[in-house]
Amino acid sequence: MANIIKIAGPVVTANGMFGCQMYEVVKVGEERLIGEIIRLQGDKAIIQVYEETSGLRPGEPVEPTGSLLSVELGPGLIGQIYDGIQRPLPEIRSKIGDFIKRGVSTYSLPRNINWYFIPKIKKNEKIEAGDIIATVKETELLEHYILVPPNINGKLVYIAPEGEYKVDTTIAIIEVNGKKVELQLFHRWPVRVPRPFKSKLPPTVPLLTGQRIIDTLFPIAKGGTAAIPGGFGTGKTVMQHQLAKWTDANIIVYVGCGERGNEMTEVLESFPELKDPRTGRPLMERTVLIANTSNMPVAAREASIYTGITIAEYYRDMGYDIALMADSTSRWAEALREISGRLEEMPGEEGFPPYLGARLAEFYERAGRVVTLGREYRTGSVSIIGAVSPPGGDFSEPVVQSTLRVVKVFWALDTALAYRRHFPAINWLLSYSLYNEILDPWFKSNIAEEWPKLRAEAMSLLQKEDELKEIVRLVGPDALPESDKLVLEISRMIREDYLMQHAYHPVDSFCSLQKMYWMIRVILLFYKYANDAVTKGISTSRIISLPLRDDIARLKIVPSEKIPTICREIEDKIKNDFIQLYKEVES
Ligand code: ADP
Ligand code: MG
Repeated sequence: MANIIKIAGPVVTANGMFGCQMYEVVKVGEERLIGEIIRLQGDKAIIQVYEETSGLRPGEPVEPTGSLLSVELGPGLIGQIYDGIQRPLPEIRSKIGDFIKRGVSTYSLPRNINWYFIPKIKKNEKIEAGDIIATVKETELLEHYILVPPNINGKLVYIAPEGEYKVDTTIAIIEVNGKKVELQLFHRWPVRVPRPFKSKLPPTVPLLTGQRIIDTLFPIAKGGTAAIPGGFGTGKTVMQHQLAKWTDANIIVYVGCGERGNEMTEVLESFPELKDPRTGRPLMERTVLIANTSNMPVAAREASIYTGITIAEYYRDMGYDIALMADSTSRWAEALREISGRLEEMPGEEGFPPYLGARLAEFYERAGRVVTLGREYRTGSVSIIGAVSPPGGDFSEPVVQSTLRVVKVFWALDTALAYRRHFPAINWLLSYSLYNEILDPWFKSNIAEEWPKLRAEAMSLLQKEDELKEIVRLVGPDALPESDKLVLEISRMIREDYLMQHAYHPVDSFCSLQKMYWMIRVILLFYKYANDAVTKGISTSRIISLPLRDDIARLKIVPSEKIPTICREIEDKIKNDFIQLYKEVES
């Protein structure tokens, strides 16, 4: 018989635990609170408990369950709002009122919904893990493929006929080595074990976000990893919401680790209101929300990113592109720190456990674009975008630094930019994307051959601006030659007319790649003519007083479909206006 011998906050020690395994789920105490074994020493187990442990006493029983911390995967996930261990929040709320009571267990997937099942394979077929057994229309926006779960290969001996079934109905029987395995519409998978796939593919396709600074300067690939670090109020949450709305992923998994008490409430209230801009349907029809409010136990917060990534991998296996957003991983790291402290482990930098970096790496490594299991060739991807909120916006802090070592894209949010209300406040000098080169062929063939050249030119103007500003600080603007004054003006256009993008403006909120291309092309064409004009002796102030500049500044709010026509007009105007200017100086 196993009993509690010690309680330290969310961490409980029990003896008599011989035969248990790491990450096994146990029921703790008279109230049977859900816990997970995180360390085994002889017959002693250290357990992190996913519920409030106050009132728990030594001597109370602990009951092993024999299974690892797992999630239920099947139709009914989309649109759900879960806590860190996949307990449905609205469900629990309606059952017991607003606060989650301890020891309450509910199914993760609703058991009362009928799903319309259309079989895709026939009896007696030889099948493999990953094969599509059937389809179920999960939401208006999503076809759900029922797959043979990983590790199962054999002969199909029964398949249910087309019709309506509940999630726990046996819909297929597979004979595996003479043994019959029954499949339901869902299966369980341990959250700390990455789901298998056939092979990883190189990240050659961008995950488009509709955000100009990202897609143009610092793109992320499908299956890629990105971090958004930034101090309080720099726009991490707004950016995560923008990405949830606009990325060209099929499914969004949003893991919210509440910063301030009410921030998660905000997400819980605002997300269900959001519309998928492309279809006008509720965004929740392609979203799974995992929410940790600050009054929830820390261990659940620790588990939440694994719950999220496992759900993401499950849809990836169907051949979908998933974007997983975590806001913020700092709150997750703090949960890790608190549990580590309770375990009396040797602390590393700033009290975080020495394995912080390894845990972050393990998490981000579960991103990727893959060839899925199954006989039919399918590819799917999981991209991970993690917000980091370092105290005081200090990027030298351990969570930012450990994250930087593993992610390939870094969108550095800048307090000074946010203060000036330059949004998105992504600092173009500190940020980077290691995907630029590998994505260039895609951009060249899908948008324009000259795309990488335009990007490089814009970037070099911004870098030049930074150097010139230093000089201006030392000797004043008058000392600059006209050509440098022009660089300052053009880079201001790039910053204000291109990089700045208003999240709440109905048109500007999203920018198509095609529109981005035209906008940057027009600005750089303007620069080309202006530069010629300067060498002909025309002053920068004369050039920037051209009314053309306003036309360019207004492009942001021109709807995408009108852009090519309007931009062609502007390009003609640039040519004509400058010819006019040249004539002025010649006469
Ligand atoms: P954080 O999560 O980093 O603390 P938020 O995402 O809550 O910061 O952003 C703080 C505020 O900044 C928002 O309420 C909004 O007013 C403004 N903001 C951030 N990004 C944008 C944007 N792209 N467009 C317009 N306003 C923005
Ligand atoms: Mg925030």
